[in-house]
Amino acid sequence: MSGAPVTERYAFVRDELDRLRESGLYNEVPSLGGPQGAWIEVDGRRVLNMCSNNYLGFANDPRLLDAARRALADFGIGPGAVRSIAGTMDLHGELERKLAEFKGAEAALSLQSGFLANQATVPNIVTQREDAVFTDELNHASIIDAVRLTKAQRFIYKHNDADDLGAKLREGKDARRKLVITDGVFSMDGDIAPLDRIVDLAEEHGALTMVDDAHGEGVLGEGGRGIVNHFGLEGRVDFEIGTLSKAFGVVGGFIAGKRDLIEYLVQKARPFLFSSALTPPDVAASIAAVEILSGGGDEVKRLWRNADHFKKEMGRLGFDTGVTETPITPVMLGEAALAQGFSRRLFERGVFAKSIGFPTVPKGKARIRVMNTAAHSAEDLELALEAFEAVGKEQGVI
Ligand SMILES: *Cc1c(COP(=O)(O)O)cnc(C)c1O
Repeated sequence: MSGAPVTERYAFVRDELDRLRESGLYNEVPSLGGPQGAWIEVDGRRVLNMCSNNYLGFANDPRLLDAARRALADFGIGPGAVRSIAGTMDLHGELERKLAEFKGAEAALSLQSGFLANQATVPNIVTQREDAVFTDELNHASIIDAVRLTKAQRFIYKHNDADDLGAKLREGKDARRKLVITDGVFSMDGDIAPLDRIVDLAEEHGALTMVDDAHGEGVLGEGGRGIVNHFGLEGRVDFEIGTLSKAFGVVGGFIAGKRDLIEYLVQKARPFLFSSALTPPDVAASIAAVEILSGGGDEVKRLWRNADHFKKEMGRLGFDTGVTETPITPVMLGEAALAQGFSRRLFERGVFAKSIGFPTVPKGKARIRVMNTAAHSAEDLELALEAFEAVGKEQGVI
């Protein structure tokens, strides 16, 4: 890079940043001064946390912290290598066996994140131009990127529209291999994919089914077993993508599915072969999370009680919470600038709930996405509702 002076070389960067600021889409990244929980410290202030994916409060649960400490003592801090060379520890195998059992799948493979778990699978299942992928138009960015890694033809079907999926499957009927991909719970709206109908259609057309259950694990199904359990579809979904970073409270991702498929991905998946393994404390804490959920699910019940109450009261106050069927509660506001201002006013009242705008959601559909958790008390929810009511009236939203 020679020639143009530095100031001109980066003019495009400054222009884009200016444009983001002017349109209310500039993302201020908050920084927490302590552990994740119902209350957190942001910019030196203790505020009520209404926007983390820590659904069950596991991110700072003493049982997970103890497991992580024990793993530190027994296995050290770093894996030291990629899984396929010298980075696989006994702990990884233990986690994978427990995850498979929890999800009602034959086998599982853990990876560094849910994002990478998508990249690990899609381009190895459908590879060539003769293959076809059928994907919901609102699927998560990590699915979109995974689809970009394959040469397969893309058929993008209308959101949660099984009829449109059927039409697209007929259009692509001559493809060599077919893969249907959907989010289980859609993270920005909180609606649930019609997985029963999707699986019927996929079976009818000889397609494989993949569901990304990042927001379903720990939330849907018996004891938080996820969307496959919710619909009673065990054995009929070829593979599920999971994350350890949301309800499980840690960080990481996994694939759960047929044994042959997991064996194949161990040989093929590039995030497994070319990027180092999850650390021992992460793996041990994740094992503790799976064990807690396998043993009951009181946290899951508390999560739903909180979510049902909060959503009902928000509706009574006159807020539009969209099409949610889960603890994810979008408060629809429209313009990005309004959503940003709303979030700032909530913060001044001690409630942390970030606004979300384009490109995470479509233009004109900016919102504040409230995440209910099991960690919130009844008083916490009252405080949040009072703040929403006051700011909603002040901003003319309700
Ligand atoms: C959050 C999310 C991911 C990414 O999971 P990480 O473990 O944070 O990388 C993937 N897919 C969906 C649908 C998600 O909501």
